[in-house]
Amino acid sequence: MSRITIESIEAIIVDLPLKRTQRFAAIGADSTAVVLVRVRTSDGVEGIGECCTPSGPWWAGESVESIKLMIDDHIAPHAIGHDVFDIRGFYRIVDRKLFGNAFAKAGVEMALLDIQGKIAGVAVCDLLGGRQRNALPCSWPLATGSAEAEIDEAERCISAGTFNIFKLKMGFLSPEEDVARACAVARGLEGRGSVRADPNESWDEATCKWALPRMVDAGIQLIEQPLPRWNLEGSARLSSSCRAPIMADESISTPRDALDLGRIHAADVVSIKVMKHGGLGRARQIADLSLAMGMSLYMGTFLECSIGTAASMQLCATFDHLPYGGELSGAHLVAEDIAIRPARYEDFELKLEDGVGLAVEVDEDRLRSLRRDRTHSTHTLGTAVG
Ligand code: MG
Repeated sequence: MSRITIESIEAIIVDLPLKRTQRFAAIGADSTAVVLVRVRTSDGVEGIGECCTPSGPWWAGESVESIKLMIDDHIAPHAIGHDVFDIRGFYRIVDRKLFGNAFAKAGVEMALLDIQGKIAGVAVCDLLGGRQRNALPCSWPLATGSAEAEIDEAERCISAGTFNIFKLKMGFLSPEEDVARACAVARGLEGRGSVRADPNESWDEATCKWALPRMVDAGIQLIEQPLPRWNLEGSARLSSSCRAPIMADESISTPRDALDLGRIHAADVVSIKVMKHGGLGRARQIADLSLAMGMSLYMGTFLECSIGTAASMQLCATFDHLPYGGELSGAHLVAEDIAIRPARYEDFELKLEDGVGLAVEVDEDRLRSLRRDRTHSTHTLGTAVG
């Protein structure tokens, strides 16, 4: 059989309005941007991928602008002509030319797997070890800072049957205000919704000593990355003293991170994210290492639109045990999407779509109106969360 090679790689920045302002520890945003990656093969098959940051470079140093530049100038020139089935060889070449930039590499690998699935006539989850689940219990981010508004938003999600697990984004208020808010939300949703908290590295260990017990008493069920990513020893102390599980997110990007965390049990749970690990295959590898080190898995996100959400869901489908579910809810946060068949949130779960490759297709009309280099704009703003 003749080799099927990469003929072209295109990276397109797409601006997407959000249904409401999303606040993170470092910033607030009412729109987001992603990079759509299109890889075409020598025999005319196209694969797609999405690179997504949490609204800017504050989390990992990469932005949509840097991702496009890295793909255009430092990945594509070395990848064109490469066998689409040789992903290990793709990384070997690209890693030597380009340090880091995991998000940019992930988008290209995603498109290569989409191509492989289309050629083989199977879903990407079948290339990654096989389908173990058809749906993901999925959390919704509460990120406005007002407990009253957040309880209202959560109630709307519960009534709509979309989400009954909620993750409070924290760190943009003082610890005292944040803890009071978290306790109010957890108590307000008691018995109807599970509430988790993510301070995004904003606290020190002294703050955690008083804050975590109060939040656990109020019903918060999982605490994500309260300490800076480098403080593994502090996180190990929290993991052994806190009555709720501690989840690592910023602390785990590489295989070595999984080993370092696991050796001192610096987390009970790890958040697996396709972008930060540099691709679906690498994310699966880090998931396996984490399991071997005695930590549980959680399916994390950078709030991708439906393209990246479909890709993460293909990886997620290979996880047979996710005791806290995941958070692939970005496609529900964007007011407009670029997929023909957007992600489906039903019965408090994100559903895995049937189909080959990533099982998602680009809506070309939407893409034309939302791409940053468009010549005109037709998008509309504002749809209520529910
Ligand atoms: Mg996080």
